[in-house]
Amino acid sequence: MVHKANYPKCKRCKKPAIVALPSHNTAFCAGCFDLFFLNGVKRALKFMALPADALIGIAVSGGKDSLATWDVLSRLGHKVMGIHINLGIPDFSKDSIRAVTEFAGTRGLEYRIYNLKDLIGYDLPQLKGKTRYNMCALCGMIKRYYINRLAVENHFKFIATGHNLDDEAARLLGNILRHKRRYIEKFYPCLLSSHPRQAGRIKPLFRMDEHEIRTYVKIHGIVPAKGGCPMNKGATSHYYKEAMDLLEKRMPGSKRDFLYGFLKEQQPPQPASYRECSSCGEPTFQEVCGVCRLKASLHQEQKEK
Ligand code: AMP
Ligand code: ZN
Repeated sequence: MVHKANYPKCKRCKKPAIVALPSHNTAFCAGCFDLFFLNGVKRALKFMALPADALIGIAVSGGKDSLATWDVLSRLGHKVMGIHINLGIPDFSKDSIRAVTEFAGTRGLEYRIYNLKDLIGYDLPQLKGKTRYNMCALCGMIKRYYINRLAVENHFKFIATGHNLDDEAARLLGNILRHKRRYIEKFYPCLLSSHPRQAGRIKPLFRMDEHEIRTYVKIHGIVPAKGGCPMNKGATSHYYKEAMDLLEKRMPGSKRDFLYGFLKEQQPPQPASYRECSSCGEPTFQEVCGVCRLKASLHQEQKEK
């Protein structure tokens, strides 16, 4: 946020601006920024053709992005419910739960918290060193599996995540640099369900950048969990973000041009042909899904002890 003295007037109403948005070459007062933000999300939702009465599960980490997603979708009149998975990471998970419960409590919104320990028998830190997976990849796989499973059990038609413009531009850059054709083909802000045990997935904040989301939560008195996950140091996604940040700094608008230009040409992905995990029945591309293979290897390790 800003010192008013350094700021121009709001481009819309001419009151003193509280935020400048160089990538849009504009500045707004709080009220007009709020309208701008809601409109940005509405435009994103146009990609997604959500039935008006669909129950949407918000995968909420307690960070600014997923709390803002939850706030905006409920303000826009969607039926929403938060789902948080308590990963059991000391301090970080406690503050994440504080942020989720505080946010939902002040707005009277419904949510459910599930403990990873109850779901898989271990907290995330206890899995460290137990598998050959990188911790971020492991955490991502576990969260995707359980968030989808819990969404289906709770009858959510869609799951919304807090992925923002910075996340998506960085992920696209990573996929292109590494020629990940399979991921590039599926790259889209909305994936429809391809299986009865799969919820659709949407990213309502894909047009909003970090700075805009930080401004949004500040204006609305939302207090997200402090700091990032202490277990994700060295995640490669940080490097792609840094690269995009550099381009954005030198050439404001680069992130949007890159992402929107790609999406303009991109066709919505075709439904995927899933099979069912022979162990748990969840949709997967393999005989046994990643989480069941993880559970089997943890079980084996336990037996060998
Ligand atoms: P991350 O993979 O941590 O960058 O998170 C991406 C998105 O996944 C967030 O914006 C949330 O929507 C969701 N998410 C992350 N962590 C959790 C969690 N512990 N419980 C539920 N949803 C989560
Ligand atoms: Zn399985």
